[in-house]
Amino acid sequence: MSRQLIAAGNWKMNTNYSEGIALAEQISKHSTDPKGLVILAPPFTSLQGVNEVIKDNNHVKLAAQNCHVKEKGAYTGEISIDMLIAVGVEYVIIGHSERREHNKESNELLAKKVDLVLSKGLIPIFCCGESLEIREAGTHIDFVANQLKESLFHLSSSDFAKLVIAYEPIWAIGTGVTASPEQAQDMHQSIRKLLADQYDEAIANGTSILYGGSVKPANAKEIFSKADVDGGLVGGASLKAGDFGDIIDSF
Ligand code: PEP
Repeated sequence: MSRQLIAAGNWKMNTNYSEGIALAEQISKHSTDPKGLVILAPPFTSLQGVNEVIKDNNHVKLAAQNCHVKEKGAYTGEISIDMLIAVGVEYVIIGHSERREHNKESNELLAKKVDLVLSKGLIPIFCCGESLEIREAGTHIDFVANQLKESLFHLSSSDFAKLVIAYEPIWAIGTGVTASPEQAQDMHQSIRKLLADQYDEAIANGTSILYGGSVKPANAKEIFSKADVDGGLVGGASLKAGDFGDIIDSF
């Protein structure tokens, strides 16, 4: 996928079926000519319904919040990539910090999930980001570099070129505390430099790198205006059609 502006909404474990459909309808209606791509990641139970709502809108795509690392089998309660494909999913969020924390997802496991998603022709939205402790220790750049190295740098250039990256400092997720536009830019620039060193300039300049962490209408414009920020992965503010619409309009 070539670099583009993206506003992705991660609904997490929020919205029941009818709430999800109503939200998708409002966002789709709003997104008739956005400056970037809009991606919605509803809970699994709403994927099919949301797909029905957005399938004729080329500007809005469907994402899953996770998938299992195995293709099928005795994994009670899990969702396979083929099940997601069957309901119209094109993107999969991989490595969200909440899954890293609550489900103990390691860089090694995430590398396998990325491989699976790519092998099926879907696009991973790969999340990375440091805790407050790491930020305060001043090792955040190295920490994020290591997440990318261990989960992504085994990929060929042609596979890497399909990915979307989301930098989400954990201390800014759901806390109301946003990284400053300069902090976001610093990290995004260093990720891009790392991609140039590992791959080449074309990969570095062609990869969409989203910022996530308390993005809201009041701060989206300034964050998105930074040279290396290609949009946002949005949690809380994506649950209100008006707020998410304003964020989409911030490009
Ligand atoms: C997220 O869940 O990816 C996120 C960034 O959440 P919030 O916007 O609520 O901080």
